[in-house]
Amino acid sequence: MSYARVLCVGLRGVDGQVVEVEADLSQGLPAVVLTGLPDAALNEARDRVRAAVTNSGEAWPNRRITVNLLPAALPKHGSAFDLAIAAALLAGAGDLPLDALDGVVVLGELGLDGAVRSVRGVLPMVAAAARAGLTRVIVPLENAREATVVPGVTVSAVDSLRRFVAFVRDREPLLEPPPLDETPPPSGPDLADVAGQQMGRYGLEVAAAGGHHMALIGAPGAGKTMLAERLPSILPELDDEAALEVTALQSVAGVLPRDGRLIRRPPFQAPHHTASAAALVGGGSNVVRPGALSLAHRGVLFLDEAAEIPSASLQALRQPLETGRVVLARARGTTEFPARVQLVLAANPCPCANPAGDQYCVCSPVVRRRYLSKLSGPLLDRIDIRLNLAPLSAAQLTTATAPATSSAEIAKRVAKARGAAAQRWSAGGGWRVNAEVPGPVLRRAPWRLPLADTTDLRASLDKGLLSARGFDRVLRLAWTISDLDGRERPARAEVNEAIQLRMGDNRG
Ligand SMILES: [Zn+2]
Repeated sequence: MSYARVLCVGLRGVDGQVVEVEADLSQGLPAVVLTGLPDAALNEARDRVRAAVTNSGEAWPNRRITVNLLPAALPKHGSAFDLAIAAALLAGAGDLPLDALDGVVVLGELGLDGAVRSVRGVLPMVAAAARAGLTRVIVPLENAREATVVPGVTVSAVDSLRRFVAFVRDREPLLEPPPLDETPPPSGPDLADVAGQQMGRYGLEVAAAGGHHMALIGAPGAGKTMLAERLPSILPELDDEAALEVTALQSVAGVLPRDGRLIRRPPFQAPHHTASAAALVGGGSNVVRPGALSLAHRGVLFLDEAAEIPSASLQALRQPLETGRVVLARARGTTEFPARVQLVLAANPCPCANPAGDQYCVCSPVVRRRYLSKLSGPLLDRIDIRLNLAPLSAAQLTTATAPATSSAEIAKRVAKARGAAAQRWSAGGGWRVNAEVPGPVLRRAPWRLPLADTTDLRASLDKGLLSARGFDRVLRLAWTISDLDGRERPARAEVNEAIQLRMGDNRG
C-alpha cells in the first residue's frame, strides 16, 4: 500500500469541518510535500512529525511523500493535524494497517520526542465531528475532558505516538479520559457584599431582567466595577446550546479551564481601556483568535473608563454590537465569531475624576459635557439604563443595616421577570427579553400604553429631554420594571421610574 487516509477536523473560528489527511508515497527523491493550503505551522508539522516518528522507534519512509489535506478550499492552520499526518504516512508506507481508525477522528500535536500535546479548540472540533456523524475521536490526554462534554461521542485519550501506534497496529488500549471534576465551580462575587448603592443595585436588577445595556457614571470609588462584575451572578444560567458556544469559544482562545466542565455561568470580560482593537474584537494574522467581545458572548462585556477608550477601538465595537457577530477578514478568507453581549459601560463624570465627586470638580461645564459626548454615537446610543452613582459616604458604609439581598435571591426575581417577558413576546416576534423588542411594537396595539400613563414621558419628549429613540427605551424599561413587579402592564409609576433610569436622574 502506498496511499492512506485519516480523518481530522479543521477550524474556522469556532466552526469545525472534517478534514481528510491523505498520504501518498512514491518512488523518487526522498522529500515531504504538504498540499491543501497549509500555513506556516503546517510546514513546521513536517519537521515535528519526522522527529516524532523516528523518536518513537518507527522507520521513516525514505520515499517521496505527498500529504494532502482535503477539502483544499478550507484554510487550515495550527498543529492539530500532526497525529493524523503521522498515521497517514506510516500507513502509506505499509507499516500500519488502518482498520482501527475507520471512522475515527484523530486530533493532536506531536512533540519532537513523540509526545502527543494538547491543542486549542478540541471541543468545537469534536462537536463538528459529531455533526458529521462521526462518533469516535482520539484526542490528546490533556484535552480529553473537554471532548467528553460533546454528547454521543466516544472519546479515547493518547499521550504519545508510541501508544497511538500500538493501538492502531496491535489494538493495545488507549487511555481513558480523566473523570469530570464533580466539585461545584467557585461562585463569583455576590451582591450581598455591596453595601448601600440602592439605586445601583436596582438598576443592575432591571438590566438583568430585561437584557438592557447600561452605563454607570460616577466618580472613582462609587462602586462601578463592584456592581458590574456582579451582573453575571443574577443572570440566568446558560442553557445547553449557549453553554456549548461559550465553552467552545474559550477552547479556541486557549483559556478553557482543564476541569472539563461546560461553562454554565454567563462570562464576564473587562478589557482594559487601553486594549487594542484586536484584543477587543479578535485578531491575529495567522491563526485568528476571539477577542474580549467574543469571550463575553452570552455574558457581560464591561468597559471601564469608557470615555478613555480610543475611538478606533470604539469604532471596531460598533458593528459587532449591532449584529452580535465579529467578522474578521484575512487574505485567506474571513473568520466569524459570535459576540452577543450585555454591555456595561463605566465612566467618570468628568476628566478630573475627583474622588469626592461634584463638590470638588475643577472642570468647566463645557469640558464635562464634551467628556461624555465622545461615548455617544457608537456606545451610549445603545444604552437603555444610565445610572449616576453618588460616591459612597463613610456613613453609608459603616451604618449597620440589614444585610443586603444576595445574588441568589435577586436571580430568582430576574428569572421570573424574564419568564413573564418571554411568554408575552413568544406569540409576537419571539423576542426573549424586553431589550430586543422593537420600538414600534411597543407603540402600537395591543402593547400601546394608555395615554394617562405616558403623560410625563410625552412631556419629556416634547421638552426635548428625551429623543425619539430614548422614548422607546423608556417603554422597554417600563415593561421590565412591570415584569419585576409582577404586573400585567406598566402604569404611570413604572413609566416614570423608567424615565429616571433612562436619564440618569437617579441620585441617592
Ligand atoms: Zn471634574
